[in-house]
Amino acid sequence: MRYSLGFVLALSLAGLQFVAIFVVVSTSYLSSERAMLKLARGLMEDAGANAVEHTKRFLEPAAETTEQAKRVLNSGLVSTTDRETMERYFFQLLQTEPQLAGINYGDEAGNFVYVMKSDGPGPYRTKFITIEDETRSVDFIWRSKDYSIVEQSTDPADAYDARTRPWYIEASALGSRIWTDPYIFFSSQQPGITVAAPVVFPSGALQGVIGVDIEISDISVFLSDLRVGDNGAALILNQDGSVLAHPDPDQIKVLNEDGTLSFANINDIDDPISRAAFANIDRADGSTGELQSNFSYQDDAYLGLFSPITGIDLPWTIAVYAPEDDFIGVIKDNRARNTWIAAIISVLTALAGLTLAELILRPVRAFAVRTALVSQGEVSATEPLPKTYRELRRANKTLINEIAQRRESEATVQELNRDLAHFSRVNVMGQMATGLAHELSQPLTAITQNVDAAITTASQNPVENQDLLEILRELDEQAHQGGDIIRALRGFIRKDDGVMSEFDLRILISQTCRLMRHEAEVRSVNLEYATGDFPNVKGNRVQIAQVLINLMRNAIEAIESSNAKIRNIRIDVSEQPDRLEICVEDTGPGISKDVILFKQFQTSKAEGMGLGLSICRKIVESNGGRLWHDADVQTKTRFCFTLPIV
Ligand code: ADP
Repeated sequence: MRYSLGFVLALSLAGLQFVAIFVVVSTSYLSSERAMLKLARGLMEDAGANAVEHTKRFLEPAAETTEQAKRVLNSGLVSTTDRETMERYFFQLLQTEPQLAGINYGDEAGNFVYVMKSDGPGPYRTKFITIEDETRSVDFIWRSKDYSIVEQSTDPADAYDARTRPWYIEASALGSRIWTDPYIFFSSQQPGITVAAPVVFPSGALQGVIGVDIEISDISVFLSDLRVGDNGAALILNQDGSVLAHPDPDQIKVLNEDGTLSFANINDIDDPISRAAFANIDRADGSTGELQSNFSYQDDAYLGLFSPITGIDLPWTIAVYAPEDDFIGVIKDNRARNTWIAAIISVLTALAGLTLAELILRPVRAFAVRTALVSQGEVSATEPLPKTYRELRRANKTLINEIAQRRESEATVQELNRDLAHFSRVNVMGQMATGLAHELSQPLTAITQNVDAAITTASQNPVENQDLLEILRELDEQAHQGGDIIRALRGFIRKDDGVMSEFDLRILISQTCRLMRHEAEVRSVNLEYATGDFPNVKGNRVQIAQVLINLMRNAIEAIESSNAKIRNIRIDVSEQPDRLEICVEDTGPGISKDVILFKQFQTSKAEGMGLGLSICRKIVESNGGRLWHDADVQTKTRFCFTLPIV
């Protein structure tokens, strides 16, 4: 791993944070985008419905006025032959319904009355075409609001014939109320539509046609005021694609080559977004229902809605469109801003993480370095611990204890190694001594025999050989003494096959004392033991001898260390019901307070090993007895052990 733990931690933290923020931002963006688009569709539907309602409200009075005028004329309340009354009636109707542009009546004979709103010289203008005796006269009257005449004129050149106009032809042909296709009005040059209905004689024969004109440019004015998002628009299309109403009213009229005006087609108008919106609509299957669409213009996404105007007999469609960004632009900006915030927070978090990781890791690193140095022995475990965490402090304590224990125990298997080596050397020497005793016993026997023979010979002339006899007797005594020692040694070794045997304890004590005598005498220690009749005991002779020797040697060493005046060691044997109790007592200084007896490695001696007593206790116990220090004895030191009587 090439990177530090802190770096990896900080990077992972920042990465995770970035992913988390990004996921939250994206999902909230997607859900809010969906919600906003849904809301946008709703707003557009509202705008569309609003436009539809407005259009219907705009057109309906025309239909009602037509129906009403038709009934009035049919019933004869206003006579179709009384052109003055008809003019006044039309004038009143025009004043009550502001969106009506004009009302006209033409009859089968060619007579025509037309009252319309005018730009001047008066606000209303009436046109009469009168056919009398096949003579045609055309009169114009401009009136003020109060019906007074402002100006009058005639136009003999006027060739207008209502019977040739589409509204007249359609209504008279169908015999019922009709809506014309939108067209540009002859008089006002404004786009409009006419509602027309036939007027009949009581006989049912056609008398003429009443028509009501509506200028639909007002719908364009309404559409230009309609808000669809910030940059959206609404327009009205005829089923042939001609634009009937547009927020920009100038868009809808085109001048034909013959000088007449007609409606512009959606595919030709100077409004590329509307063109794009409509290009997306496929009504090839003849469907007329509401339609939603998504289209794009210059890389911007748009929402489109097309709904037919229902409730009136007109094949018109309201088209509403708006750029998506009008509705979700804010949350798009928000998303971009949030993504930047996430990135910046992640970078800051990474930096903070790095700093934090460094702060956290610094004491850990210092601790690790110290621990490594301590374990290599380059620094003492007592060196002060660097400032670190409580957990590490605890771990360090445990570790240091472990190290200390390990060192101690290492110093101790080493000490034991030395002791074992010593033991094995002692063991080898013991074996050598055994061999030596065996080898020396024969020459010593030969010496004593020859000395005896020499004494016998010299005794034949005792006076002459007095000096010689003295030397020979001394020689004899020394040879016997040497023989005793050798025999005692051999006695130990004899029968020591590692198994229990029955033996006389007195003999073993005397042999042991014989062995230790020299060691005691050198240190001016007097060695004595009790004799008497005791039953035999059972045990391992050599092992019991080792116990006796060890107790005696401890006693000799204790006396020697104290420079005591009375330097005595005494071995007593007493008989108990089933055992013999052997006590080794000395006049030494007693047990040192620092020593715990019978515990391994407890010694008060510079050269001591502290194993003797614990081994002796084990030996005695394995021979069926018990070994203890008799603390009841004052002024003397006494160790006792028992052995089972046979
Ligand atoms: P070591 O003789 O190697 O020290 P031991 O186990 O034989 O080992 O003895 C342990 C210790 O007991 C001795 O170091 C000594 O301090 C104490 N001790 C044993 N025997 C006597 C004694 N007779 N008088 C005083 N102290 C004794």
